[in-house]
Amino acid sequence: MSDDAIPAVLPLRNDLVGETPYGAPQLDVPVCLNVNENPYAPSDAVADSIARRVRDIATMLNRYPDREHIELRKAFARYLAGESGVSLPFEQLWGANGSNEIMLQLFQAFGGPGRTALGCDPTYSMYPEYARDTFTTWRVVHRRDDFTLDVNATVDAIIRTRPSLVVITSPNNPTGTPLPMDQLAILLDACRKAGVEGAAEGTHPVLVVDEAYIEFRDPGTPSALTMLAGHENLAVSRTMSKAFAFAGARVGYLAASRGIIDAVRIVRMPYHLSALTQAAALAALEHTDELLAQVDHLRRTRGETAHWLATRRYHGRPLRVAESQSNFLLFGGGFEDRERIFDELLKRGVLIRVVGPEGWLRVCMGTDEEMSRFRAALDEVLAIV
Ligand code: PMP
Repeated sequence: MSDDAIPAVLPLRNDLVGETPYGAPQLDVPVCLNVNENPYAPSDAVADSIARRVRDIATMLNRYPDREHIELRKAFARYLAGESGVSLPFEQLWGANGSNEIMLQLFQAFGGPGRTALGCDPTYSMYPEYARDTFTTWRVVHRRDDFTLDVNATVDAIIRTRPSLVVITSPNNPTGTPLPMDQLAILLDACRKAGVEGAAEGTHPVLVVDEAYIEFRDPGTPSALTMLAGHENLAVSRTMSKAFAFAGARVGYLAASRGIIDAVRIVRMPYHLSALTQAAALAALEHTDELLAQVDHLRRTRGETAHWLATRRYHGRPLRVAESQSNFLLFGGGFEDRERIFDELLKRGVLIRVVGPEGWLRVCMGTDEEMSRFRAALDEVLAIV
């Protein structure tokens, strides 16, 4: 739907005129590799647990849910202790309807008129929208050619622009690039030194690490959670949408200092997390091992696909593949008409994503069968474009 569907008699906010709703096309095609979902559906055992939990609370739906969703926050804490070896009390955790809502709540609490949020592009394209919706100015520092952070430029920008929020995605979307812990330490240090435009003297930027895809990192690599202790202004956003294969349930969560969680509690809608969502998430978290079972396999698929892509040629030159720690790969780097490649793949039943810098395309890891269809289709397309 475009803005011309909105009748001119409606007093749409001036800054929203001409805007269109965010989102990749939701098309009914055989091979969907466009929105970084997990291709492996929850098992019958998981579905039965969800159904049981939901049945148990269905007779209480006349009552509002636990606004503080404490049982779920405790379950997130148990999961993170196992996954990242970081033990946190439930007061340092917070859930919402996808990490999209977590991020919006952070912008609502810490952004606002007269304030700036800083990111490092190319990065997740929703950040400018959270900024727009909260009247926060959005600024970017460009990543290097290999999509790693330009740490010096980012530190300079933090000191110069005095943002209230710095948002770093790790692994980054759409490039898959991880944020090494030594770089995070440098950014935290810069935030400790920087002031915040439009806020009281003595305040420092909140540094948000968006770890939506972190479970796909190479084993043994630390998460930003390991830096939470001693950093009151660090917030780590997570989701059950990706590695957990739970995108349809809309469950994201935040690990941060109590101060950040309390700030977010001020702006959240009352009872934002329905009893149904809480029940489903609790059921899924009981099956953590099973739901995460395919992560290893998807990591291997990523490695194999990256290797395969690097052996393909476009106009005589090998394809470039961005180093990824995620469940997707950004590839190409020199496509003259990426829309055409996208369209030709779609004609062959394979949906990927036109995203990131010109000349690149992103493909997310599917099942083995889906990946062989992708490979066959891409070979056909590269032969004709
Ligand atoms: N962060 C990043 C980097 C993402 O790519 C996405 C989804 N594509 C999200 C957050 C939001 O995910 P969700 O709301 O499903 O948790």
